[in-house]
Amino acid sequence: MIAANDALIIVDPQVDFCPGGRLAVADGDAVMAPIAALAERFAHVVVTQDWHPAGHLSFASSHPGAQPFDVIAMSYGEQVLWPDHCIQNTPGAEFHPAILPAAARADLIVRKGSNPAVDSYSAFFDNDHATRTGLAGALRDRGVTRCVFVGLAYDFCVAWSALDARAEGFEAVVLREFTRAIAMPLAHGTSVDAAEARFAAAGVSDTL
Ligand SMILES: [Zn+2]
Repeated sequence: MIAANDALIIVDPQVDFCPGGRLAVADGDAVMAPIAALAERFAHVVVTQDWHPAGHLSFASSHPGAQPFDVIAMSYGEQVLWPDHCIQNTPGAEFHPAILPAAARADLIVRKGSNPAVDSYSAFFDNDHATRTGLAGALRDRGVTRCVFVGLAYDFCVAWSALDARAEGFEAVVLREFTRAIAMPLAHGTSVDAAEARFAAAGVSDTL
């Protein structure tokens, strides 16, 4: 059941994360129209937008010899290196056309990843976990107590956002059918398995 104190948080519904984009998540475009329909049922809607300056340190192209999906040590911990993506004011950073009705009625659009030296998967914090986006306070001001997450990608920006919502004292739900995953292979399993283990430990739900 959807309540008045729920917020739908639509994570990174952007052209570069959809097929044909620079960091395409398989089948990512398939969730856009369903999310737009879902958003009509929520009193509070937030959309996040990955918004990097050119030459961002999370890009493999910023590290000589590195390849996309390499993992390196940054000052704030491990960082996956990505293909260049969601560069400010480029077509790839735009919202997918099918999500525009939801973006048009959003309370807030949270841009993240604009610090050239720090990545930001989460809607709440940069990856250094020191710099806040301001979203937690904005949600509290609106009386929101539960965050419902959808969008891209399930095992990175959606997962980190949901875990940070729990850390900030909100209830958190991830609606898997309204997400798609990168599913990066890890030493044991994939990034989906890692995210789901953290969901279980943190009390992130998968149903409304
Ligand atoms: Zn990014």
